[in-house]
Amino acid sequence: MALRLYNTLTAKVEEFQPLHANQVRMYACGPTVYDYGHIGNFRTFIAVDLLYRFLRQSGLDVRYVMNITDVDDKIIRNSARDGVSVQRYTAKYEEAFLEDSAMLNIERPMLVRATEHIPAMADFIGKLVEKGVAYRTEDGSYYFRIAKFPGYGKLSKKDFAGMEDGARVDVDEYEKDSARDFALWKAPKPGEASWDTSIGSGRPGWHIECSVMSMEELGPSFDLHAGGEDLIFPHHENEIAQSEAMTGHPFARFWFHARFLLVEGEKMSKSLGNFFTPRDLILRGHKPSSIRWLLTSVPYRNQLNFTFDGLKSAASSVEKLRNFRFRLTSTQFPAGANPAMAELATETVTRMKSALEDDLNTAQAQAAVFDMARKANAAFDAGEVRKDDVVHLLSAMDKFDEVFAVLKDDDQSKIKSVLEWARAQGRENDISPELLEIAGSAQLSDEQVNQKIEAMSSARKGRDFKTSDALRAELITAGIIVENTKEGVRWRRK
Ligand code: AMP
Ligand code: ZN
Repeated sequence: MALRLYNTLTAKVEEFQPLHANQVRMYACGPTVYDYGHIGNFRTFIAVDLLYRFLRQSGLDVRYVMNITDVDDKIIRNSARDGVSVQRYTAKYEEAFLEDSAMLNIERPMLVRATEHIPAMADFIGKLVEKGVAYRTEDGSYYFRIAKFPGYGKLSKKDFAGMEDGARVDVDEYEKDSARDFALWKAPKPGEASWDTSIGSGRPGWHIECSVMSMEELGPSFDLHAGGEDLIFPHHENEIAQSEAMTGHPFARFWFHARFLLVEGEKMSKSLGNFFTPRDLILRGHKPSSIRWLLTSVPYRNQLNFTFDGLKSAASSVEKLRNFRFRLTSTQFPAGANPAMAELATETVTRMKSALEDDLNTAQAQAAVFDMARKANAAFDAGEVRKDDVVHLLSAMDKFDEVFAVLKDDDQSKIKSVLEWARAQGRENDISPELLEIAGSAQLSDEQVNQKIEAMSSARKGRDFKTSDALRAELITAGIIVENTKEGVRWRRK
């Protein structure tokens, strides 16, 4: 079986075959760095990260490029309002985006910045004018003439045939029914940033940046282009028009769109004010791994409704799997092998793979690993797991985590850095007691916890209960839960 993905361009689920054997070239529209990203944005970025990880796990060599939109209407407006340069304004949010991505275990793609490609964008627009598909207006702005591109509407499945030729729109984002000749380049306005280029002074529109940078890094035709569903129109429709009008070749073959994260039935968005950033949630005492789990728990092509209950149950899912993994690594099993365990592991790997190959059915892949944990836990309890089984079960867990990236217990250090950030920002009031409690458990490293537990056990063996009680109290204060089980002492962080 091979990977099958829904392609917005053909409106069908199709087998994904890269243009060049074994090499995938993909591009995702990245963040507009005018503010902190919210978890709706990160739902899309995580969906693409998951695709990227799965393609690599499937043996493909992937070149994955993402842009940073560090110039657009909002950025120009806000930097002018604050009286700072565009670069200064965006640097802070770009850094925040990178930190948040790392916190959510999003692997870093190759990043390209719009402001570093402005001469190339101007040259590209100049060539579109030579080809007769773009024109200059009196004020020095440039527009794409959509009537000259017969395929306009093929991605968003909109028929623009009856459109008034020459009607224009100069904002970067607009509604479907107001499809017009769109701005490629905007003439300078007093007090706003602009660049001097081969086509005059001004600044690029949002759409041109992705056409220019994606083709520069990946060639005129590449395998896959990704973004959230709101980018289908106008952004991606316009990217296709600009790129294909320029090269005469098909632009991206697959169009991958993640559906929205909703809050009470509405799109999570800055403009509606119904958003949470990853940092907001961490300040409320939630873990980065719970956020990542929640955002992948519903396949990318279904909308996902955000709730705090959902986030809590995500936390408990991650914890169950981590505990299962811990049980595997910390127990002394009797020698030998139980072939049923190796079979269970193999069957789980196959199930996960076929779920992900089925248009990235993340929910099914998660269900497969849970089934394995449940069955193996039952076998543990029945004393049916042997030493040689561990490697098989662990390897299935590792395969799962190569794609889902939630099992490594590194939440505490991430939480601590958010805590420090909040203090530096003077946001003490937003720091919840829950956060302080989990952050407390970060004060002891794994090694220190292990040492204390050993010291505690030997104190108890020597009947020095005072010392062992003191050590236990110290661990509890640090947010460490110590459990005495049949298989010995186990611990975990709160
Ligand atoms: P922006 O920074 O606004 O350019 O958006 C970055 C990415 O987040 C784009 O791919 C958007 O389509 C996506 N996005 C925005 N809001 C949501 C949402 N509520 N759910 C999922 N993706 C979203
Ligand atoms: Zn884009």
